[in-house]
Amino acid sequence: MIEKDPFAVSTCRLCRTADAKINFTNDLGVIDVACERCGRFRVEISGYNLRFDSLSGAQRLRVLELVKNKHDSGEASPLISAEYLKQILATE
Ligand SMILES: [Zn+2]
Repeated sequence: MIEKDPFAVSTCRLCRTADAKINFTNDLGVIDVACERCGRFRVEISGYNLRFDSLSGAQRLRVLELVKNKHDSGEASPLISAEYLKQILATE
C-alpha cells in the first residue's frame, strides 16, 4: 500500500524564488504553504493556483507585505483568501 505524502515541494508561487512545502489542511479548500522566504501562510487553493500567477510585481509585493505584517502581529500562518487576491488584482 502506498501512503500519500502529505507534503509537496515546489517553487513558491508567491515569491517565485524559494522552495515551498505545501501541506493540505483539514479545510479542503485551503493549503498551508511553508516557504523558505515568505514564511508560513495559508491560501485558498483557487487563489494559489490561478490568482498568484496573475499578480503584477507591485501587487505581489503587497501580498508579501500583508503576510509579513501578519507574521509580525503574531499570526503563525495568515490566511490569504481568494477574495482578497481578487481585490488586489483589481488595483493598480
Ligand atoms: Zn515564497
